[in-house]
Amino acid sequence: MPPKSTPRSPLDAAKFRRRLLAWFRRHGRNLPWRNTRNPYHVLVSEVMLQQTQVPRVEGYYGKFLREFPDLSALARATPRRVREAWDGLGYYRRATNLHRLAREVVASPSGAIPEDVDALRRLPGVGRYTAGAVASFAFERAVPAVDTNVARVLRRAFHPGVRNDARGTRRLWDTAAAILPRHGGRAWSFNQAIMELGALVCTARVARCGVCPVKEVCRTGRREDGKTGVVPG
Ligand code: SF4
Repeated sequence: MPPKSTPRSPLDAAKFRRRLLAWFRRHGRNLPWRNTRNPYHVLVSEVMLQQTQVPRVEGYYGKFLREFPDLSALARATPRRVREAWDGLGYYRRATNLHRLAREVVASPSGAIPEDVDALRRLPGVGRYTAGAVASFAFERAVPAVDTNVARVLRRAFHPGVRNDARGTRRLWDTAAAILPRHGGRAWSFNQAIMELGALVCTARVARCGVCPVKEVCRTGRREDGKTGVVPG
């Protein structure tokens, strides 16, 4: 049975997907971590992006990977070296967890970052979002990845007024799963695209409904009827 909180009709979901993907092909930014399926590289980018803006991460991502080109190199490094390489990004707990993760994975029987969301979630510093993002962006698994940008778009598009509590969060994840393309490659693009829409068009500060590709199938956008302005939630 489909989850209770699906979009109002499968047609809405199909239109939402089609328009979003077409927009992303034209307007998606060419970010370095979008040009790789290397699980370690994807993981590093996702951990950096957890609490840091894209332009700042762009400055650190390549440098960090030059210093620690693979998981083994990171696992062998001293905590001090890792901290120095992270210096300037802040929230050092992320670096500590990433280092622990590298050591744990390298010491595991497979020695490889797992593909499975549940296995990913057992690693240090990997929550539900990061597990979904790594499974989707590195392994092209058709799984949702709901960060704050995605949650905002889903809330405004399908569930305006949903509470910001555990139940509300579950509804957003259910909807993300329900509208996700079933094919892993398309799911990769969809997850990137909805994140990009939340970063560039449907932002926390302003919802630019007048230029939004999914306005016609968005409950908030239809209400705004082409206006560009701040909308709640
Ligand atoms: S139409 Fe407006 S509220 Fe809806 S997703 Fe687009 S920018 Fe956000």
